Amino acid sequence: MRQIYDFAKYYYQKLSRLKLPFMRYPDSKTKNFKSIPRSKMKEFNKVRFHGPKKLACYNPFVNLFFNSRGQAVVCCRNQDIVLGTYPENTISEMWFGNVANKLREHMLNNDLSMGCGYCEHQFKTSRFYGLPSMHADYYSSTKLTYPKIIELELSNICNLQCVMCSGIVSSSIRKYREKQEPLKIVYDDKFIEQLKEFLPYAKEIKFYGGEPFLIDNYYKIWDFLLEIKSKAKLHVVTNGTTLNDKVKTYLKHLNFTITVSFDAMKKDLFESIRVGANFEKVKSNILEYNKILGGKGLSLSITPMKINCKEVPEIIDFCNDLNATVNMSYVENPAEMALWTMPSKQLEELIEFYKFYKFKPIKSVNADYNFKAFSQFVNQISQYQKVNAKIEKEYELTLKTKDECYQIISQTLDFVLRENIIFESDKTEIYKVIQEVETELSEDDKKFFYGNLTNFLETKGVPALKNFVANGFDVKKLKDVLSSLSERPNIYIKNYKNISL
Ligand code: SF4
Repeated sequence: MRQIYDFAKYYYQKLSRLKLPFMRYPDSKTKNFKSIPRSKMKEFNKVRFHGPKKLACYNPFVNLFFNSRGQAVVCCRNQDIVLGTYPENTISEMWFGNVANKLREHMLNNDLSMGCGYCEHQFKTSRFYGLPSMHADYYSSTKLTYPKIIELELSNICNLQCVMCSGIVSSSIRKYREKQEPLKIVYDDKFIEQLKEFLPYAKEIKFYGGEPFLIDNYYKIWDFLLEIKSKAKLHVVTNGTTLNDKVKTYLKHLNFTITVSFDAMKKDLFESIRVGANFEKVKSNILEYNKILGGKGLSLSITPMKINCKEVPEIIDFCNDLNATVNMSYVENPAEMALWTMPSKQLEELIEFYKFYKFKPIKSVNADYNFKAFSQFVNQISQYQKVNAKIEKEYELTLKTKDECYQIISQTLDFVLRENIIFESDKTEIYKVIQEVETELSEDDKKFFYGNLTNFLETKGVPALKNFVANGFDVKKLKDVLSSLSERPNIYIKNYKNISL
């Protein structure tokens, strides 16, 4: 029944795009609100999965998110406007209170200035794909009742130390990598009691971690949902390492969908990203989850980074084999690992690689969805490529040439020689290493190498050399430092926000 309703709603929403040219949007200059311009709303409404809407976002009316610090917010991207904090405030005070109402008032005027900086920026640069407001569109109501979606991030307990993750999200990273005290778990049984008033009204409840299948409070919530025979859609994002008897019972008797983080089809690569996980175990759990869910409701989440970006198509093939959907999880940080800090040339090669990949010929609704998600992902990569090419072009104009670079090298080395900081033999050795590094670089990388080396010598040259020889002349170390000068993630980090296409 629900599927028929969803199907009808989807087509109704598609048809409703016809009303796009006539839609009226809030425009509240007179009331001291900063509404999103009509032109941007029109652009956004063209790509909204659930059809065009009057407001840019419905999260403040339908979504309640608890983060691991005890704070309630309306969505993961607006962590600045805290509706209240547990245990100081009750859940009712948070959801029906003044802060939430003020945020709603802003949203009724399409004004994103109250903590919604992320979306504001995405609107300005027309990057609508993946906006967290899209999901709330499904409910798109401004009537104030209990939240339709509850998102829970009640603890950071996790058994893995994934390379792109941090201690805020993983207790293991906090303990072993960051060597910090564990985060305090603020949510207790009284919180769960308060939550019981809200749970029966929620249409969707999402469980994040840490690792949800290791978090005790979630087991208490699932027991309660079993007791009230809840029909709510429950969603878990798991690392796929845990599947015990209790979990099996919940999966069988509640309305679960599961997203498993899965970043590589090669054991070594997978285990080097998901540190602490066993590839075979996760893969066999994925098959088991899928079996229990009856082949419906499984999704694999790929976090494409520099190290695993070429795995994406194979994982999509794996999803299609399982009739699972794919979820692309875009990495912003750590920036050095992320695809948006990849040189434009490499991004171009990556796009070519994706273009020529031969997917297994599988036809299904989910495979269709996955190919669409993949093509959106490739579009996003093309967007990065264009932005980075533009950044590189602008940066190149500021770079010194090879001749200018060699002039500075010669001046600096003559100076440190005169000052007896290095010997003649060191000077010869340094030239040799520079030339060695140069021959290993592509023409494209050489431009950055000369420019960065010049900047380096001009800003830190003499003290850096002094320091270097004081610790003993190490040729390998010198080569490593020089090689790193052809890298350029910093230029993207510095300039990305200012570039719009
Ligand atoms: S506008 Fe963006 S940041 Fe603000 S509540 Fe909506 S989704 Fe969250």
